[in-house]
Amino acid sequence: MATILMIEDNPANMKLALLLLQKAGHTVLCAVDAENGLTLARTAMPDLILMDIQLPGMDGLAATALLKQDPATAAVPVIALTAMAMKADREKSQLAGCDAYIAKPLRYQELYATIDALLLAAKNTAAGQSNPFGTPP
Ligand code: MN
Repeated sequence: MATILMIEDNPANMKLALLLLQKAGHTVLCAVDAENGLTLARTAMPDLILMDIQLPGMDGLAATALLKQDPATAAVPVIALTAMAMKADREKSQLAGCDAYIAKPLRYQELYATIDALLLAAKNTAAGQSNPFGTPP
C-alpha cells in the first residue's frame, strides 16, 4: 500500500490506471499536467510517481529531470509511461532519470510488478541509509 502520484493527460488512461492502482490498495493522487504534478510531488511527497511522457506543455521527461534535480524529490521512484514503445523513448526516459519504463496500453501484471519492485528497492535504500551497519547493496 503506497501513495502514488499519477500524472496523465489522457482521461481514459487515467481512469484505467486509477482503477488498477486502487484495486491494488494504493492511494492515488492525480494531475493532468506536469506543472500540477510537480506541485503535488513537492507537497504530498508520494511514494512513487507514474509519469506520462507526452503531456501538454512541459513533457514528462522534463518534469522527471526537475524532480531528480531536487533533493526533496530525487529519491521518489518515477515510472515513465509512453504510448510509443520505441527504443529511443526508453533511452530518453533513462537519461531524464526515470527509474522504470512501461509502454501503454497498461497491462496490470507489468504495472503491479514494476511498482512493487520499485517500492521495495526504495524501502531497502531508506533502511540502508538509516542503518550504518546495514549490508551494502
Ligand atoms: Mn499523454
